[in-house]
Amino acid sequence: MRIRASTRARRLALRVEPRAGVVDLVMPAGASQTAADRFLSAHAEWVAARIGELPPRIGFTPGAVLPILGRDCTIRHVTSLAIEVVREGDELLVGGPLDEIGEKVAVWLRTLARRVLTERAEGFARILGRRPTRLTIRDPRSRWGSCSSAGRLSFSWRLVLAPPMVLDYVAAHEVAHLRKPDHGPRFWALVERLCPGYHDGRVWLRRHGARLHRYG
Ligand SMILES: [Zn+2]
Repeated sequence: MRIRASTRARRLALRVEPRAGVVDLVMPAGASQTAADRFLSAHAEWVAARIGELPPRIGFTPGAVLPILGRDCTIRHVTSLAIEVVREGDELLVGGPLDEIGEKVAVWLRTLARRVLTERAEGFARILGRRPTRLTIRDPRSRWGSCSSAGRLSFSWRLVLAPPMVLDYVAAHEVAHLRKPDHGPRFWALVERLCPGYHDGRVWLRRHGARLHRYG
């Protein structure tokens, strides 16, 4: 349990933070400690249940299974490997010393994310007659992508651990913002045009998105 003071919050709230594996208590500026204590004991059961539900972390170690672009791949350490990381069928082979595997896999996944998302985003942008000014790969806590008013796109590398239709939806969503900054009907019509099955991707993220934060 962590306590988060918030200037924006209007009331006490509990929020599950899947990446850190904790529950946050959000405290608005005027809330008293007594009110917070009362709120917590009223929701103690809920908190315990949510913490119990949090999936275990999956580190980048030999034997770990990563759903790379929707296909399960097992990390295997191969000391003799000349190329540091290579995907072969259902295995992700990693060379070099054992204690460097985690970092190498992380770099490899980010590189893959950059390549795939650049390709998708540029393809979609071409359809709309736009060009993103820049594309960055990050690891944000609560967003899968963003588009700035200057046309800079940013995506979470974790999207490569989701089925490809999910990555397509997020790329289409952010690229559509190059034309429409809001989320009005015309914006969604653009997303639909770029990615006709986008609804499934959206639903997948809502249902399973938190799981992507347990990797690494
Ligand atoms: Zn949006």
